[in-house]
Amino acid sequence: MKRRKRVLTTEYAPTTCPHCGYVVECATSMQDMNAPRPGCVTVCIKCAGVSQFTPTMSLIPFDARKLDPEAAELVRRARRLISSRRPS
Ligand SMILES: [Zn+2]
Repeated sequence: MKRRKRVLTTEYAPTTCPHCGYVVECATSMQDMNAPRPGCVTVCIKCAGVSQFTPTMSLIPFDARKLDPEAAELVRRARRLISSRRPS
């Protein structure tokens, strides 16, 4: 039996998505139980844009082609999930 992976949703100081301007103040980890930290890559729940946390925990656009294959697959899954929930 495969054990369901645990995830962690963390709140942090509000910051703005550099792609759509949506104010984000929490993130759900897809890979481990760690809170987001500088350098982490995140996918916007509103526009599915890919961004990276800066040292001050604001967000800057991130080129998803720079990810390793495992992380790229996680980002693809997150973007697919977000896109499928977006009203058309
Ligand atoms: Zn966005």
